[in-house]
Amino acid sequence: MSEPGLKVTRGEIALRGLRCACPNCGERGLLASWFRLAKACRSCGMDLERSHGFYSGTTSIGYVAAILVILVPLCFLVVHDVIGARAAVLIGMSGSAAFIVGIYPVMLCWMVAACHVALPGDLPANGGTGRRGED
Ligand SMILES: [Zn+2]
Repeated sequence: MSEPGLKVTRGEIALRGLRCACPNCGERGLLASWFRLAKACRSCGMDLERSHGFYSGTTSIGYVAAILVILVPLCFLVVHDVIGARAAVLIGMSGSAAFIVGIYPVMLCWMVAACHVALPGDLPANGGTGRRGED
C-alpha cells in the first residue's frame, strides 16, 4: 500500500493505534483519564478534540464487543447445559459492564486511529491540521 505524499502511512497509523500511541507522532499520551481522551497529544500537541462527537462511537463498539466476547459464549454455555440461565444472566450483566469498562481506553485509542486511517491527510505530520474537514 504505497501512499506517495504521506509521511505517516495508513499502515503506520493502524500500528500506532494498536499500541494506543498517537497516530501523528507515535508516542503515547492520548488519554486524560481512563474514560477520556486528552485535549491534545502530550508529545506533539495534535488536537484530539472532535467538536461533533466524532469519537462517541466508542460506546457502541463496546456494546458489540461485549455481545461477541461475553454474551454469545454465555448463550452457548446455557444451550449446552454447562451453566444455568440465572447464572448466565448474572455473569452476562456484570461481565459485560466490567468488559466495557476494562477495554474503554483501548477503544478510545482505536477510534482515533480509525479516524486517521480513513483520513491520513488530516494528520499534522502529513500536512493537515489534525482536525477533520478543516484542511
Ligand atoms: Zn502525538
